[in-house]
Amino acid sequence: MSKRELLNDLKKRMEDDKSLPLRTGATQLVFGEGNPDAQVYFLGEAPGYYEDREGRPFVGQAGKLLDQLIESIGFSRSEVYISNVVRFRPPANRDPEPDEIAAFSAYVDEEIEIINPRIIVTLGRFSMAKFLPDTKISAVHGKVYKVGWNNKKQVVVPMYHPAAALRSTAILVAIKGDFQIIKKALNDDLEFMEKDAGADDVKDEGKQLDLFI
Ligand code: URA
Repeated sequence: MSKRELLNDLKKRMEDDKSLPLRTGATQLVFGEGNPDAQVYFLGEAPGYYEDREGRPFVGQAGKLLDQLIESIGFSRSEVYISNVVRFRPPANRDPEPDEIAAFSAYVDEEIEIINPRIIVTLGRFSMAKFLPDTKISAVHGKVYKVGWNNKKQVVVPMYHPAAALRSTAILVAIKGDFQIIKKALNDDLEFMEKDAGADDVKDEGKQLDLFI
């Protein structure tokens, strides 16, 4: 099967999985979208009002800012892949609960395995916590980590959520700067620039794994 077919199959299994939470209050499943061969995979939080209506991730105001940020590093939206840790809209856009995030987690892992991106950019604290538990976004945003994940080392760059940048000029300035790090990370050879460390190290010691600029 091609990557596109694998993703379609994954989407279909999620649509059919009646055990997934939040389904009843949502219009439809919001699956990831973009280039199946993307080098950069963006992982957000959960669909909002417009995403729920259109069935596509990041199409509201935060999505428009995300598009601009992606273009600021020389990519178009269709060249990257954009997804969320939770795939049904939580009621009134409330934060997703830990058990809700956990229910979608195996599907998110499978999506990442199919895409096999060079870099995962987490947007906001909920997707950051998947790779860098027990860390604060204000301390780690815009830094390049290599974490033990799914039996390999995965490059992860945590960033603020674009919706937070719409509410705060300081965060907007930060996220614009942080995006430039993606470009640097792609241009450099990360194999040689990153030190290895597992996600467990972060959990146990709360330490930063590696920062290369
Ligand atoms: N915020 C998210 O985290 N994801 C979306 O898809 C839209 C807004």
